[in-house]
Amino acid sequence: MKPLNADLHCHSNVSDGLLSPAALVERAKANRVDLLALTDHDEVSGLDEARQIAEAVGIRFVTGTEISVSWGDDQTVHIVGLNFDEHHPDLVAGLARVRSGRDARAERMAAELAKVGIADAYAGALKYVNNPALISRSHFARYIVERGFARDIKTVFEHWLAKGKPGYVSHSWAELTDALDWIRMAGGVAVIAHPARYRLTPTERRELFVAFKELGGQGIEVISGSHTEAEVREFAGIAREFGFVASRASDFHGPGESYIDLGRMAQLPPDLTPVWEVW
Ligand code: AMP
Ligand code: MN
Ligand code: MN
Ligand code: MN
Repeated sequence: MKPLNADLHCHSNVSDGLLSPAALVERAKANRVDLLALTDHDEVSGLDEARQIAEAVGIRFVTGTEISVSWGDDQTVHIVGLNFDEHHPDLVAGLARVRSGRDARAERMAAELAKVGIADAYAGALKYVNNPALISRSHFARYIVERGFARDIKTVFEHWLAKGKPGYVSHSWAELTDALDWIRMAGGVAVIAHPARYRLTPTERRELFVAFKELGGQGIEVISGSHTEAEVREFAGIAREFGFVASRASDFHGPGESYIDLGRMAQLPPDLTPVWEVW
């Protein structure tokens, strides 16, 4: 039997993606995705539009969001929630609280960028924002490319926006325990996003997996658009060891800006349990 073409992590312009929820689902259809979750950062307001188009074009759709979580010593990790009730009041209130800090953070980022010669970055980033509640580093990155300071988004992060760089501002996101509670209360499954992308030591990474499991987390992205083959093997091993279900995720943000297009990732190792088999 042909394996399911599932893509359970992508972004629309409701957060830092380039396409509208409708255009994203149309693109998923063109790429022969069978099962899709839209996972905007700290947001669920694109889900209705995405679901309607998914029904119209015949794609199985589940709800999703990618929650920003503060972890350890000023680290950020991302937890994807899948297949939950997007109207659950605790989830809705929790996500609203996470979003609420973004605007002040953006003003501080702009002030830091001004000190290193990048003026007007707040207004500049806002030109790329579709949802005023969700200004993100990606929007700043687009503006900095536009201004000609760097040739692409990746370079902008390396020079200005990654932790330790001049435009980086530390921020308090959700607590891991709260993010997992919101997802669980709303009936969903929590998945650790792109586990290879955190700047954690091997010991710290294990501490994250242990805490995530203890707090009720169930899944991990084994296949992520950003994972190398070696990283896929590593996190397949973690899934086996911890008994996590496995997710398959592009983390697509838009044409020309992403590791990989919707649904174009490798398949999960066949011995792992896919996350979509537990709901
Ligand atoms: P924020 O939630 O505002 O901190 O922005 C985080 C987003 O920035 C991530 O979801 C990615 O879309 C993007 N991002 C983070 N690091 C990088 C990177 N090194 N290269 C490109 N995009 C990145
Ligand atoms: Mn993003
Ligand atoms: Mn992420
Ligand atoms: Mn993402």
